[in-house]
Amino acid sequence: MFPAFRIGFGTDTHRLQVGIPFYLGGIQIEHSKGAVGHSDADALLHAICDALLGAACLRDIGFHFPDTNPDFKGADSKLLLKKVNELISQQGFKIANIDCTIQLQKPKLKDYIPQMQESISSILGLEKNQVSIKAKTGEGLGYVGNEEGVDVQVVALVYKT
Ligand code: MG
Repeated sequence: MFPAFRIGFGTDTHRLQVGIPFYLGGIQIEHSKGAVGHSDADALLHAICDALLGAACLRDIGFHFPDTNPDFKGADSKLLLKKVNELISQQGFKIANIDCTIQLQKPKLKDYIPQMQESISSILGLEKNQVSIKAKTGEGLGYVGNEEGVDVQVVALVYKT
C-alpha cells in the first residue's frame, strides 16, 4: 500500500544574550552569546518539534509544553523532542526526513552540523542522512544580522504505512 505522507512546517526564534550557554540542535555552541528562553532555548530542536507536531496535526510545542509551567523551566529540549516523537509514533507516524535551515550571523555553524545531525538522529531513532541541516547568516540585516537573535525553519515529512 502506498504510504500516507504528511508534511509539517516549524519555525522558532530566540533572542541572544551575552554570557549564557548556547544550545542548538542538542549540542552546545562555543560563543560569547547564548539563546534566551524558558527552557534551554534550543531553537533548532523547538522548530523540529513544531514541524513534527504540525505534520501529525497535533497542535504546537507551546500547547504540549507551556512556558507558564515551571516543570519546563530550563528544560532539556532533547527530552521535549523525544516526547514529541512519542506523540507522533502513538498516531502511527514515522519520520521520512527533516530539513532544517538555521539563520545565525555568528558563529559559523559549518563544523557543528555533523554533531547536530548525530544528536538529532539519535534522539529520533533516524539515520543521519534523514536529518539535513543548513546554515545561513543574516547578511548583516535585521535582528539576525545584528546578532540579536537566531531563526530556524524546518520542514518534516512523516508517513503511515
Ligand atoms: Mg523556542
